Order: sequence, then structure tokens, then C-alpha cells
Amino acid sequence: MNVSTKRLDIVAEARGLLSALGVGESAYAAGGMAAMSPVTGEKIAEVATTTAAGAARAIEEADSAFRKWRLVPAPKRGELVRLLGEELRAHKAELGRLVSIEAGKIPSEGLGEVQEMIDICDFAVGLSRQLYGLTIATERPGHRMMETWHPLGVIGVISAFNFPVAVWSWNAALALVCGNSVVWKPSEKTTLTALACQAIFERAVKRFGSDAPDGLLKVLIGDRAIGEVLVDHPKVPLVSATGSTRMGRDVGPRLAKRFARAILELGGNNAGIVTPSADLDMALRAIAFGAMGTAGQRCTTLRRLFVHDSVYDTLVPRLKKAYESVSVGSPLETSALVGPLIDKAAFDGMQKALKQAGTHGGKITGGSRVDAGHADAYYVKPALVEMPKQEGPVLEETFAPILYVMKYTDLDAAIADHNAVGAGLSSSIFTLDLQEAERFLSVDGSDCGIANVNIGTSGAEIGGAFGGEKETGGGRESGSDAWKAYMRRATNTVNYSKALPLAQGVSFDI
Ligand code: NAD
Repeated sequence: MNVSTKRLDIVAEARGLLSALGVGESAYAAGGMAAMSPVTGEKIAEVATTTAAGAARAIEEADSAFRKWRLVPAPKRGELVRLLGEELRAHKAELGRLVSIEAGKIPSEGLGEVQEMIDICDFAVGLSRQLYGLTIATERPGHRMMETWHPLGVIGVISAFNFPVAVWSWNAALALVCGNSVVWKPSEKTTLTALACQAIFERAVKRFGSDAPDGLLKVLIGDRAIGEVLVDHPKVPLVSATGSTRMGRDVGPRLAKRFARAILELGGNNAGIVTPSADLDMALRAIAFGAMGTAGQRCTTLRRLFVHDSVYDTLVPRLKKAYESVSVGSPLETSALVGPLIDKAAFDGMQKALKQAGTHGGKITGGSRVDAGHADAYYVKPALVEMPKQEGPVLEETFAPILYVMKYTDLDAAIADHNAVGAGLSSSIFTLDLQEAERFLSVDGSDCGIANVNIGTSGAEIGGAFGGEKETGGGRESGSDAWKAYMRRATNTVNYSKALPLAQGVSFDI
């Protein structure tokens, strides 16, 4: 098959999927922002972009929708999210495939991302009957004190290319049951999957009926300038922004300036520790998936590995073998485990980091470009770099499959090195020793938002709160009580007595 035949195939397939998902041609065939596929490196469509005035209008419309939606009882709002989950179940195959085309994920990861959307919808439906406040003991007789959670307003969502649909659903499912509307600025690299989500959502709205106001979900297509309109708009009380730490450094202060809330889900530089007692077979598999899966383009990708001196010479040669033999290729045409990098800039960034690692004494396995039959696509052999110590590029997130491996002898020192980077997202220890495991999870263990034992750093479930500390931004979304960020808390005290006692014994008799 020659390259030009493939080009026609991918364009035709993407358009067929968009049509099956309910996206009208006018959204992507009339010129605008290029939608590329990293699988072949080709343009598959041009998506109509949103102007700054259009974005402001969309936010106003979402604000009107919010004012009506907040009056709909929460369990009923849950019904809309249940229908969204149903629509996602019905279109899992098509949306998963579109994720593979647009983000380059292998089929099981494309489908897995849609499964995650279904899971968060289920979670949010249950939550719609559990938006509990507390009843609190009051010091005043004949009084009752309680907490009430109210809807917040328009929730801004900014998302990254590597989870083009799941991150939206984590935020939207919760925001909607909490009584809010959503304005979403997807990555400029994954606009087609965003249009598909919008179409799926609109179908759920239609089935829900007239209690769902127009404008509950607005999608803004554009680059960071459109994201900035969302960040600066006074009618957006919360922005949940997922992307690089660089983006968070810009967005965080802008939101703080107008006292808006932020959920910042930023870069990770995640590490694992392999101790002498570790089950090395298990560790090997977890490390391989964590470091090479999604071609190293997960925020939770394993990027640093500390291996105890006593098991280093057993584990690392096996790891290198896995790196040498892993299949790299088109996720649409082969059963490869590692798909493409998102674009040339990602490839250049990887090569630059490897070069720097070399100057710091790193011994590199892999890392070179792979010819997958598409001249404009960027496939690479994942790289394993044995480093004498943690320095240079090891301290930063390079969004590509590079695993830096270092030897350690003392667990306390390894934990100190583990924590000695800017990011604080995900972490793991491989050990069968209870003391080591507990030490890693304890107050002076891992400083990350996610700390695992005998599980890799990536692949979180939706039931837990997801997010990280330090330069990862401190936000939490998805499960546990992350919903509280999408609501405003009111403390209510009711006096049902005939007197007016003041708190703290203050008297003020007039
Ligand atoms: P990116 O920062 O380039 O872009 C992310 C989004 O932010 C895009 O929609 C972009 O248009 C927007 N944006 C960028 N600058 C902005 C600004 N100043 N104002 C408003 N919007 C702005 O990130 P990317 O390359 O798409 O994604 C990769 C990065 O995302 C990695 O660093 C990865 O670790 C991180 N990430 C983090 C999480 C998490 O949950 N912590 C999840 C996925 C990805």
C-alpha cells in the first residue's frame, strides 16, 4: 500500500467516524484550524475556530444555562449524566477509534479512554444523590448549624492532547451533577474528538428533554489565546486546566488575580523504586507499561527509576531486552504496543533531552526514529538511559518515552532523590517488605498526590481523587470528594428559639 492510498484511507475513516458520531460536516470541512493525525502525519480536516467575541458569547450563554440548570434537582441532573454514559457506551468503538486516529493511541488505550468516561458518568450518577453537607453542633441553645453545597456557575475546562476526551468527562460529569454548565477549550491538537464529545452530549440532552437548557456545554476551538478568554472571564468562577507546568504558571496567577478557583493538573516527573525484595517479574511488566505505554505521553508516565544495587544487574538487562524488542508502529495498521509521538516538536524535545543525558554520562538504549511507512509521522524506539546520578534532563518532564534508571543503596536516600524534583504527581515502590512499603506511603515518604505499592505510576482508576503536588499544581479531580471543588459551600445557622444568644458569650443589649 503506498502512502497516498493510506492518506485517503485515514481521511475517509475519520470523516466516517465523525458522521457516525453525529458531527456535521460544516464543523470540519469549511476551513480553519488543521486537525492532524500523528499516525500518518497528515491533515485530516480543518476545524472552524472560535473568535474571542464568540468565546465571550458562549460563556454568557453557558451562564444563562447555569441559572436554569441549578434549579433542577441534583438526582434529576444525574439522569442527564446517566444518558451521557449510555450514549458513550453505544459509541465506544467509534470514539475510541477516533482517539487513536487523532492522538495516536493504540486501540486498547483509545477504547480504555472511553471506558474511563463511562466509569466517571456512573460515578457521577451515584454522586447526584450524595452531595451531602454536615450538620454541626452549635454552642447556642435552640439553634441548628449546617452546611449546604450549592452549584457554582460556568466551569471552564482546558484540556491537553494526550487525554483528549477523558479529562473533559472527569470535569463535565461532576460539574453537571453539581448543577453547573461547562465551557471546554480542548487542545488545539485534538479538536475532532472534542467535536465528537459535543455531539454525543447533545444527543443525551435531546433524550433528557426540555429541562436541560440550551448552552449547558459549549466547546471553544482555538489555541491558547481562546483559553485565555476563558481564564480571564468574570463569569467563570472555576477553571480546571490540564496541561504543562508552563501553562499552569500562566493560568494560575491570572485566575488568582480575579479570585477565581483553579484546578491545575500539570506536568509529572514520576518515579518508581525497586527494592531488594521486589517481585521482579511484576516490576518488569509494570515498569514497561508505565514507561513505554502511550509512547511515554501520559502525565503519569514513569520517567525515573531507582533500582537497588543488589537487584540492578538482574532487572536492568531484562528491562533493556524489553526495550529492544517492544513493537513500535501504526496503531491503526499493526498490533504495535507503542504508537507515534504527537508531532515533530515532541520528537525534537526527546532528541534534545537524550543528547543532554549523554553529556551527563547517560548510557542510552533506544531513542532513535522508527520508519513506520509515514514520512511525516514521528515514531521512536522508547529510550532507557542508565544515569550515574539524578541531574540535567532527569529533573524535568520530557513528554516522550525516556526512562532514566539510577542505582541506589539506601532507601532514605532514594526517597530523598525521588522527591527532589519540581513535579509531584505519581510514584510507586516495588517491594514485598511491609516496612519499606509503609515508609514510602508515610508522612516522610513519597511527596506525590499518587503513591502506589507494586503498581506502576500510570493507569489510575476514576474512584480516587486524581492530581499532584508542587509543580503539578495541587488540583484534584475525578473521584473521592473532588466534587466539592465544583460547588460553593454555605454555612447556615438557624435560630428556632425565642431568644437571641450571641456566640462567644458576647452581649449587646439595646
Ligand atoms: P499544553 O500546556 O501545551 O496545552 C494544554 C492546554 O492548555 C491546551 O488546550 C492549550 O491550548 C492550553 N493553554 C496553553 N497555554 C495556555 C494559556 N496561557 N492560557 C490558557 N490556555 C492555555 O500541554 P499539552 O502538550 O497539550 O499536554 C502535555 C502536558 O500536559 C504534559 O506536561 C502533561 O504532563 C500534562 N498533563 C497533565 C495531566 C494531569 O492530570 N496532571 C494530564 C494530562 C496531561
